Amino acid sequence: MQWTQLPSPATSTGHAVTLQEVSKRYGQGVGAVTALDRVSTAIMPGTFTAVMGPSGSGKSTFLHCAAGLDKPTSGRVLLGTSDLSGLRESQRTVLRRTRIGFIFQAFNLLPSLTVEQNITLPLRLAGRRVDRGWLGQLAEHIGLGDRLTHLPSQLSGGQQQRVAIARALITRPEVIFADEPTGALDPETAREILTLLRQAVDDMHQTVVMVTHDPVAAAVSDHALFLAGGRIATQLASPTPQAVIKLLADLRRAAAC
Ligand code: ADP
Repeated sequence: MQWTQLPSPATSTGHAVTLQEVSKRYGQGVGAVTALDRVSTAIMPGTFTAVMGPSGSGKSTFLHCAAGLDKPTSGRVLLGTSDLSGLRESQRTVLRRTRIGFIFQAFNLLPSLTVEQNITLPLRLAGRRVDRGWLGQLAEHIGLGDRLTHLPSQLSGGQQQRVAIARALITRPEVIFADEPTGALDPETAREILTLLRQAVDDMHQTVVMVTHDPVAAAVSDHALFLAGGRIATQLASPTPQAVIKLLADLRRAAAC
């Protein structure tokens, strides 16, 4: 099907998301943990970025700081040209609702709401009207056009994640953050979900940043960032599963030394 073509968001930095020397420390004194250590990177609009790394390397912290869910201890995060650092929590909440889409491993749909109500929830929370044409296009594309009145409990895991993708896309956000979106799915269903995310980038000029531990999922991205010890250890353009597996093994070996 033909998507409504969207222009890339206008940003004077040219980047959808920018991290400048972002550090995040938990705790104080001898028990303090540096989860992110002066991380700098910039993500171009209309690209698909995978964030990878061994367990404890800082992937979730990276995602939470980049998405404005958590505040860095130091450094700056920009969404387009908006500096998140200076915003109050209430302002960051508004920004997340209107300019960012989220997809989680556990789908995070509201069980008492129908498929349609779940998809349109970000619009209603932001006080924006529902574009019925866009809702129809999204529902058709995710293959649930005839399930809009169903409850999440009446859907499979893959179908629930499709609803979550539509919910992320309904606001036409500047960036979608996905946290292990295929982690709870079988390989075939995971492939379908990754295809939908890839199409969002290729056909809708969306920007996707996805944390994953799965080399096959990372291979769908344009660009993979590898974290180790809270720092960007290395990066890979057009990653293949084989190259990702090798790099992760190298990073685990280095971490064990
Ligand atoms: P990953 O997602 O790669 O597994 P995380 O970002 O979850 O890594 O964690 C990075 C480091 O920060 C780990 O050492 C983890 O134990 C620590 N960490 C994460 N969240 C907290 C927290 N809320 N309190 C204390 N330490 C934390």
